[in-house]
Amino acid sequence: MAYYNCLKCPGYCCSYPVIALNKRDVERLAKYFKVTFNTAKKRYTREGHGHKYLMRRKGDKHYGRICQFFDTKERRCTIYHGRPRACREYPGNGRCGYYDFLMHERRCQNDDTFVAITNHKD
Ligand code: SF4
Ligand code: SF4
Repeated sequence: MAYYNCLKCPGYCCSYPVIALNKRDVERLAKYFKVTFNTAKKRYTREGHGHKYLMRRKGDKHYGRICQFFDTKERRCTIYHGRPRACREYPGNGRCGYYDFLMHERRCQNDDTFVAITNHKD
């Protein structure tokens, strides 16, 4: 049972600085975009923090930087069937801490459109 609804959330988890990728994730991206493994690696990933991870871009009105595959108007993933394992598994069956926080603030502020901003240090 999941106590969160990603359709009511502006996509906070897609703004995480490090969304780690394994080899299979890069292969999946390559297949999804019909490019070679090395092209996918170069175009869509960065390395650091001990991981390969998804590249982000600037300019999101809520969170600043966000995954390059995130549609900042529709607030959704544009590569749903090609998304990495970490995105498929997060946050698991149960609770999402950000969603709990968001819903709490929306109730307290009596504003269904309120977006809780948190700035990652990066
Ligand atoms: S932060 Fe939580 S509720 Fe929001 S999109 Fe991510 S998993 Fe879904
Ligand atoms: S690949 Fe999709 S689900 Fe994963 S972080 Fe990027 S936009 Fe979000």
